[in-house]
Amino acid sequence: MNPASPIAMLIQIILPMGLAFLFVYKYIDIRTKTTHFVCPVCSCSFKLSKLNFAFALKTGLLNERIVTCPVCGYRGRMPVVKD
Ligand SMILES: [Zn+2]
Repeated sequence: MNPASPIAMLIQIILPMGLAFLFVYKYIDIRTKTTHFVCPVCSCSFKLSKLNFAFALKTGLLNERIVTCPVCGYRGRMPVVKD
């Protein structure tokens, strides 16, 4: 097989992207299953869906996200808490 063929090049591009996507998806899957957030206003604890977790803004701190409380609607920094 000629390594410079368009199909080989395509595979070389898509394969790492697919693996990176799978890795990120798995990471988010594990993170959403094993962590939750505690609202500082109404002190309820809630979990984020995969999609919301992926798009939750990072604050610069590893275990903190800017999320919206589903109960009282408060939006702000909340620490990621392990279950
Ligand atoms: Zn709340």
